[in-house]
Amino acid sequence: MKLTNPDRRRFLAATLGLLSAAALPAWARPAGENTKAHIVIAGGGVGGCTAAKYLKLFDPALRVTVVERNPIYLRPYGSSEVLTQHVTMDDLEVSYDDLRRRYGIEFVIDTITGHDPQARTLSTAGGQSIAYDRLIVSPGIQLVYEAYAGLTEEVANSEIPAAWIPGPQTALLARQLQGMRQGGTFVVAAPPNPYRCPPGPYERAALAVEWLRPRNPRAKVIILDPRDSFVTDETMLLGWNRLYGFNLPEDYRQRLAQKVEVTEYAQPGMLSWVRGQDGGRLIAVDPQRGTVECEADTLAADVINVIPPQKAGALAMTLGLADGTGWCPVERRTFASSLQPQVYVIGDASIADAMPKSGFAANTQAKVVAQAIVADLAGQPAPEPVWENTCYALAGSDYGLFVADVFRLVDGKIARVNTSGRYLPLDASPMQIKLAARYQQTWLRTFTADCFA
Ligand SMILES: Cc1cc2nc3c(=O)[nH]c(=O)nc-3n(C[C@H](O)[C@H](O)[C@H](O)COP(=O)(O)OP(=O)(O)OC[C@H]3O[C@@H](n4cnc5c(N)ncnc54)[C@H](O)[C@@H]3O)c2cc1C
Repeated sequence: MKLTNPDRRRFLAATLGLLSAAALPAWARPAGENTKAHIVIAGGGVGGCTAAKYLKLFDPALRVTVVERNPIYLRPYGSSEVLTQHVTMDDLEVSYDDLRRRYGIEFVIDTITGHDPQARTLSTAGGQSIAYDRLIVSPGIQLVYEAYAGLTEEVANSEIPAAWIPGPQTALLARQLQGMRQGGTFVVAAPPNPYRCPPGPYERAALAVEWLRPRNPRAKVIILDPRDSFVTDETMLLGWNRLYGFNLPEDYRQRLAQKVEVTEYAQPGMLSWVRGQDGGRLIAVDPQRGTVECEADTLAADVINVIPPQKAGALAMTLGLADGTGWCPVERRTFASSLQPQVYVIGDASIADAMPKSGFAANTQAKVVAQAIVADLAGQPAPEPVWENTCYALAGSDYGLFVADVFRLVDGKIARVNTSGRYLPLDASPMQIKLAARYQQTWLRTFTADCFA
């Protein structure tokens, strides 16, 4: 947390006893200055745990309880690396012990099933009733399997895994990919906007190519896409061109060739990308026949990974926080729900305009909300928010790239305010590219520590 210069002077003055601590912004006051309100957090993922930790950092006197259905968190970020044996399912596990021990955050491991906004209580499947003064909800996403003919949750659990919420589907997809016959075809169907982790489907496909190449050199990886472009597309496609013999679509080739050398290959490489304009939008799957139907064609596939359309986690619907879009409208400055103003909604489930649905975004939203709540409890206005996001992605295990952004409130909406330097430069040196891959791995560790330790 950055203190402004006047705040810093007042903080020093208060510490030296020259000024009452009440003159400080609420979140910067010493422990015990705020009321001992009970803040309850529904969902112990990235957003929920970051909010819990930072509430206790800003005011240790607060009572903070996280209600989460699973005793151990499985991190979605970095989970595609299970498919390529870089990490195991066990490596995705994150314990809540540090948050309990270091900050005194309480955990109730139970599934939330209801909410009484008047009484300010949550009810759980285990029969508990949990009273709160303020409620933060960070429920993540749910996958709309039924959007495609032939796909259901049962089919996804047994034959066509999405593996976009980590768990048994991730392990199933890893087994399928690793056991794919020689010369087989792996199809990844990317979801329509908006969805969790915008560069994620493209990173997954690239890592699969890298893993298959020495083990299954005649294999094919096909991305079916409802879009024609995506965030980090230029740097990702350049990586594919350099690493996997991927021929750039003509519009990209013309654009990139003005800035950097690109190669045209006589034979198509292992990876292809069927864009929306070329009929890449998925229509149906047939698990019995092993086919996928998109607007352009019906393809035979050995392993199919459909990442379905998404909406706010079911908990948001249970609590009456989602609107007709399937996502949760919020008052942008504080992330207070537009439908239930005493409840805050953060993370993937919230409607956050230009901010992507990423772990980094959920983390930065959580910090802003924690600040807003501490200020509100002290009868002060929420500070002017600033949010950030960096999405690192890999085109290969030694080929990193990123998009980095800063967001502010502009006319009541969240807008990106940086205009240049968002991406890894197209003319980055091999060392910079390798370093970006190292940063991605380092980010995974330090980010997990920021949220959960
Ligand atoms: C393959 C992949 C790669 C990714 N890579 C990156 C990356 O590199 N960088 C990045 O920033 N982001 C990345 N992400 C995205 C990131 O993981 C999510 O954006 C982030 O986890 C969102 O946090 P959240 O708090 O909104 O939801 P979650 O972290 O999903 O947390 C929601 C929590 O709510 C709990 N819950 C839900 N319903 C209930 C209920 N009824 N009762 C109790 N508990 C409940 C869930 O169990 C869960 O623990 C990636 C995602 C994927 C799938």
